[in-house]
Amino acid sequence: MARSTSEFRQAFRQEVIPSWYRGWVHFGFTSLSCLLIVGFCLSRLEEVSLLEWMTVPVTFLYANLAEYLGHRFPMHHRFRGLGILHRRHVGQHHRFFVPATMAFDSPRDFKAVLFPSIMIVFFFGVFGLPVGLLLSWLVSANTGYLYVATAIAYFLNYEWLHFAYHCPDQSWIRRIPGVDMLRRLHLDHHDPELMQKYNFNITYPICDSLFGTRFRR
Ligand SMILES: [Zn+2]
Ligand SMILES: [Zn+2]
Repeated sequence: MARSTSEFRQAFRQEVIPSWYRGWVHFGFTSLSCLLIVGFCLSRLEEVSLLEWMTVPVTFLYANLAEYLGHRFPMHHRFRGLGILHRRHVGQHHRFFVPATMAFDSPRDFKAVLFPSIMIVFFFGVFGLPVGLLLSWLVSANTGYLYVATAIAYFLNYEWLHFAYHCPDQSWIRRIPGVDMLRRLHLDHHDPELMQKYNFNITYPICDSLFGTRFRR
């Protein structure tokens, strides 16, 4: 028989979250490392042209597409070599948080939402740095720095918004304008009947609108 959400949560806390885990340290590491990278990149900019500034909206849209495709496919379907993404997302995140139980009970539950710290190294090493270097070599240094700054800022925005959606109802974070509207889209995504079909953008539902997978009650 399938375990109830509270049984699953109990088992996850005992079996998956190590005793040394501290949720606020995890949140702080993610936030600080991303802010440092973004700050460093912005500090390197010199006399940015209008065309170079276009790197920001283009990277933003590219990141929105990457978020959408990554969530819609490898996180919700098993792909050879990427099974860990499906296991962590459908097997853990979607079982830990269901529409009736969307909130953290304590900072230790942050582990069920935030990407592991090693993933920041992975994202930066695979998607950030090589593309940034390539762009600065092919186009200009400003383009490379703006690409890395926007991509990392987008990732941090993803982590912060997803974190906000799973905060308790009374949290002040939920009162930031726009957050509750975006949270409702994610709440519908956590409905087991809807999760394979709708609301794959965690941040802004641009690709969901483009590809017809936006669901709103
Ligand atoms: Zn979620
Ligand atoms: Zn999902």
